[in-house]
Amino acid sequence: MFNSVYRLLKNQTGFLTLLLLLPMASLQAGEELPEPEVKKINERVYALLGPIGFPSKENQGYMVNSAVLIGDDGVVLVDTGFSDEIGQHLKKTIAGITDKPVTHVINTHHHGDHILGNSAFPDAEVISSKQCRELVEKEGYNWIGILKNMTGKEHPDTRPIPAKTVYPQESHTNVTLQEIPMEFWVPAGSHTPGDMMIYLPQDKLLISGDILVQKMIPSFVDAHVSSWIDTLAKIQERNIETVVPGHGSLMTMADVKAMHQRMADLYAGVEAGYNQGMMDSEIRKTLDLSEWKKMKEFEGQMGVNINRAYLEIERESF
Ligand SMILES: [Zn+2]
Repeated sequence: MFNSVYRLLKNQTGFLTLLLLLPMASLQAGEELPEPEVKKINERVYALLGPIGFPSKENQGYMVNSAVLIGDDGVVLVDTGFSDEIGQHLKKTIAGITDKPVTHVINTHHHGDHILGNSAFPDAEVISSKQCRELVEKEGYNWIGILKNMTGKEHPDTRPIPAKTVYPQESHTNVTLQEIPMEFWVPAGSHTPGDMMIYLPQDKLLISGDILVQKMIPSFVDAHVSSWIDTLAKIQERNIETVVPGHGSLMTMADVKAMHQRMADLYAGVEAGYNQGMMDSEIRKTLDLSEWKKMKEFEGQMGVNINRAYLEIERESF
């Protein structure tokens, strides 16, 4: 998602940009984080929808969705935001819904916007896929650098907390947390190598992380696109009424189907161009991107996504 910042961090211009941004930190102090949109799905499930878009000075890095599952004696929280401050902000919102404590935190993947708020819940057991834990250990601090750069603000209390309990690649595990039955679904690498989805059969609900996003361009930066498309097909075999996506508004199965179709069409278009010997920049001109254009961050992400799909097709053709 944040490819341009990755590039900035890797060269001197980025370093200068970072220095220029630092004096602004004091101007940002005291500004309030945007409030989540609280959606009650049923008596025990709430979605906290964050603002849509890349991290910025305005949103201070708050741009992710979280899910709140209220059990008998405690709360299971899925995804915690991009900073300790955002985690605390979510904690406050949850306290307005229930007086039960957050006992479990689940991370859907290792990207900073989903994990860096974990430290706001020191008493909770953190759960993710095994691959996600490894990536948090390896890249967690890089994400704090990315956040600092995109928000122009220091985040001194933020540090990565990797999961304590993990689940292996390509597994399905039925668990009951706080008396709520759920399935931890770790697919083959899709949006990232370590995604985990949470399926609640009784609630006909899927919490998807960024495998599903609405009104926002998905990021292919760490993705395996063809297996992501397979995962989107498998989701449609389940009995689901509501999806809490990683970003954007709540989704129905019709929205899942539409995203699957867009992704499959894009991949097929890039593959057809590759087979004709075209470069990715030429292929872009042959694609119908009208549906993608309606989404947030199209300009910043579409070229990267086409390039990533192209590189994947090239790699797998050898
Ligand atoms: Zn995300």
